[in-house]
Parts: sequence; structure tokens; C-alpha cells
Amino acid sequence: MLVLHGAGVSSGICIGTAYTLRRSRPEISEYLLPDHLVKSEIERFSRAIKEVHLQLSKVLERIPSNAPKETSSFIDAHILILNDGMISKEPIDLIRNRKCNAEWALQQQGKMLTDMFGKIEDQYIRSKSTDVIQVVDRVIRNLLGQDDTDHDSLKKGQIIIANDLTPADTVLLKHKKIRAFVTDLGGPISHTAILARSLQIPAIVAVHNATRFIKKDEDIIIDGKRGVVILSPDKNILAEYRKRNRHITQLRIELEKLQKARSVTKDGKKIQLHTNIELPADVKATIKTNAAGIGLYRTEFLFMNRLDAPDEEEQFKNYVKVVKAIPNRPVTIRTLDLGADKQVDGGKLGGDVAINPALGLRALRLCLKSPEIFRPQLRAILRASAFGKVRLMLPMISGVDELQLALEFVEETKAELKIRGIKFDKKLPIGGMIEIPSAAIAADLFAPHLDFMSIGTNDLIQYTLAIDRVDDAVNYLYDPLHPAVLRLIVNIIEAGRVAKIPVAMCGEMAGDLRFARLLLGMGLTEFSMHPASLLGIKKIVKTSNITSLKRFAKKILAIKDIGELHATIDLENEKQNRRTASKR
Ligand code: PEP
Ligand code: MG
Repeated sequence: MLVLHGAGVSSGICIGTAYTLRRSRPEISEYLLPDHLVKSEIERFSRAIKEVHLQLSKVLERIPSNAPKETSSFIDAHILILNDGMISKEPIDLIRNRKCNAEWALQQQGKMLTDMFGKIEDQYIRSKSTDVIQVVDRVIRNLLGQDDTDHDSLKKGQIIIANDLTPADTVLLKHKKIRAFVTDLGGPISHTAILARSLQIPAIVAVHNATRFIKKDEDIIIDGKRGVVILSPDKNILAEYRKRNRHITQLRIELEKLQKARSVTKDGKKIQLHTNIELPADVKATIKTNAAGIGLYRTEFLFMNRLDAPDEEEQFKNYVKVVKAIPNRPVTIRTLDLGADKQVDGGKLGGDVAINPALGLRALRLCLKSPEIFRPQLRAILRASAFGKVRLMLPMISGVDELQLALEFVEETKAELKIRGIKFDKKLPIGGMIEIPSAAIAADLFAPHLDFMSIGTNDLIQYTLAIDRVDDAVNYLYDPLHPAVLRLIVNIIEAGRVAKIPVAMCGEMAGDLRFARLLLGMGLTEFSMHPASLLGIKKIVKTSNITSLKRFAKKILAIKDIGELHATIDLENEKQNRRTASKR
């Protein structure tokens, strides 16, 4: 029995078998062939192409019918690339002319193609070079007799062990019904961690060496809350964890009784509890928890795991699906937040990445620079607004000029639709995500231009504390209770109050039970989170008294020592939880 430790980013216990994913790029060297072996090398290459074709077709057949369309278009795109003469024929000339090994010939051809892609102006097309690399690597792995990476042998309900997962991976794995995952790298607010929480499965990141120590099909226990992985557990440990698991199930059943309950504090303050979603399929969980609406729809996930960008029509259909699924409840559609760790390919294989992508051309900046991406999305959102209560939200606003430019885009789109006689909600509320310190400090300058603001604590914490949200080397510095973060939140809520516009929070902090009482005391009245947290937060709302929480928040904000601040929060939570438990 061996115990590994990491950062628990999604709580829960899972007892099962491991499935280790390895995705290092194959190392290839060139070797020259005697004349008489060239023909058989060409045959070996052609055989590999055929086998990979077969593998991809099998993957395509196995995609469940309810999987999002993008899952299959991603595979379709790889088949197209594989069939292209640039991949399936040109390496043959190289093998014949240079008398070299097939792997090396294909790798050279791959390099030539990615260099070619790298010179293309259009960022979206340029990023597609990673699909070429993926196909090339797949054929090379086949030539080398290595496993393919489509998790073909992954059994339903296994625990994924990987060096790192991209958000795009996690979306694909969603359909494999994985029960937990463990990664060598990662941080608590990486998009992968966020997805694990939205999947409601335990997850532990930054378990250095997990892929080295954990063997395929080994029995393991994942304790997501404590960040512990137990390898080959003995009988006693297994019995203990089974008992804990039963207790967690009991607590969940208790919470489910709150589904229909109103989200109102003991002293009558109504608190809006919304959900964050990534794909239209996630709306089911919103309905199940009886949320007041969707506070954040991360539309960039529709752009991942595929070769072609979704056109206006496809985006429109996706948005309308969500809007119609929860009639009369607001759906906050965020415009694209691609870039940084959310690359269209999931950032799997690198490519042309900016020196500091989190500070680079991401989200609204990327959209303003790429009207060919931004305009169709705005049209799709506006058209969807004719079918329900849509709110449009702009991510990563950092300057008022930039915000005004984005608002001009919206106005122009409205005018265009009007001329074409296409219906949309003329009063569509437009909000901005406050997630960059400049916007948080100067929130009073942004508020008058907006109908609502939403605090994105994941990025706000990343940028305020200068800690990359995906870098496990600095994740120990992640602290939503850092006084600088708390002061910024106070400032944003105050700016909203003065401008008389609602302020929500849709970062991970909003769904963390530990911070709910403090945020309520600070005056936050709208929380948006992954559905798994909603009922827990509702329970806190229902047992809280805003007047006394205001006093509590004042006390917390005056504490200068960070250790004391954490201890005071924990003490208050323990006290209140005990009080609630004794009243049951
Ligand atoms: C945030 O930054 O807090 C947020 C909600 O957006 P995302 O996690 O998608 O960047
Ligand atoms: Mg963000």
C-alpha cells in the first residue's frame, strides 16, 4: 500500500481501478535502409495508415448518440487529415528517395506541414496545425507498436491517471463515464479542475509522479477532499473508505430534499443561486437543482475538439436549446473566452503559444481582433434572445475603451438584425465579467456602461496574486481570502450598489461552502456555480441571517493576520454547521 498526496480539487471518494493515460510525444531518429528493404518499409507505412484509419472509424462508431456533435467532428477531421495525400502519400516519396525509416519520413513531413500552418495569418486556422501533429503522432505510435490514445481499452467507471488533462480532454472523457481523475500537474482553478467539479467526480491534481507510481488496472482509492490517493489499499482501509462513502451518500440525499426549497435567508433576503455550464447537455443539472438560472454559459467549449469553428447557425441552435430548456429563467451567455489554457485543441500539443498566454490575446481581446469570430457569435446570441431570457456577458474586460468598442459591436449587430427583420430582445441585458484587477479597482468606471457585473474570481485571483492558474508550482499561493482579493470584491459590490446594477459572482469561490457566509455578509446576492455545489450553498443561505453576517464580514475584513483570518472563518463555519446539525 502506498499513499500519494496532491491538491484535492473536487471532493468525494472513489474506489476503483486505474487507467493510466500517457501522452508523451514519440522520440524518433532517422536510420537508413539497404535498397532491398525500401519496398517493405513503404508497405509498413501504408499498413499503418490503414490501421489508423480503422482505429479512427471504430472510435467514431463508438461515440454515443447523445454525445455533443463536436466529439465526432473532431474524429472526422482527423480522418480527413489522414486521408490527405500530404500525410498518406508524400512520406512514401521520402522513404523511397532518402531510403529512410517510415517514422522519420512521416515526422519530417509533419514538421513541414506545421511550419506551413504556422505562417498562416488566421489564428484559428493556424491553431489547427495541432490536429496535424496529433494525426502524425498517432500513425507514428502505430508504426512503433505503441498504444493508441483514444482510451479504447478504458473501461466504464475507471479512474483516469494522467500527466495533465486539457479541458478538451475532460469533455471527451465525460462520455466515458469516468469516476475520478488524478493528474501529475494542475492547479485548483484550472479549467480541468472546474470541469471535474461540474462532473461531480472526485479529482486530485498536482500529485507529482502519479503516472509513474500508479499502474494500469491497479486498485486505488481517491479521496478528493483530502487530496489523497491510496494505491493497492488493504482490507481495513477499504472498509473505512466504504463507510465514509456511505456517509457522503447520506449527506447528499439530505441535501437533495432542498431542491424545491426557496433560496431565502432567515431574515427574508432573497439570494439568487445560478449555475455555470459548459455544454447544452449540462442544463439538465441546472433543472435538477432547480437553480434560478444560468449565471455563466462558457461558450468556448463548443469550439473545442474539432477542426472547424461552429458557424452562426450551429451556435444559435446550441444557445436556443439551453434557453428553451429553462423558460422564464435567465441564461447568461458569455462570449468566447478562448486562449490561454482554453485553446481550440485543448492546448494538447503546444504549437504557436504566446510567451505569456494568460496575459495575451485571450477572451474579449481575441474577439475584438477577430470580428469574423465575434460577429457571428453576437448574431447567434441576439437571435437566441428572442426565445427566452438571455443575458450577454463579456469576459475579461480590462479598460473602458475596450468595453465601449465591444458594446459598439453589439449595437452594430443589433442594427444589422433589425434591417434584416430578424427578431431579438431589444432590451437584452449586457454584463461584464470583472476578473482583471484593473476592472475590479475601477469598477465604478465600468458599472455605468453595464446592466450587471459578474466577479470571475478564478482569473481575478490569478491576476491579483500573479499565480498562473494552471501552474502547480505556485498553486499553494492560491488564496481567495487574501486581503487584496477581498478588498477588490468589496470594491466591485460597492460599485454595483452605487450604479444600481446587480453584482454576481461566477468564479469557483461562489460555490465554495467555506466562503458563502463571508460573501453573504459582504453583500453578495447572486451566486453562480457548478450545479454540484448549489444545494450546499442553499442550505447555508437558508440558515443565515444577513444582519449578523454583515457584522461577521466587517470583523473578517479588519483582520490583518492571514492565519487569523482563515482560522476565524473556519471557526464561524464550524459553529454554524454544528448549530444547523443540532436543529435537525
Ligand atoms: C473566472 O475567471 O472566475 C470565471 C468564472 O471564468 P473562467 O473560469 O471560465 O475563466
Ligand atoms: Mg475567467
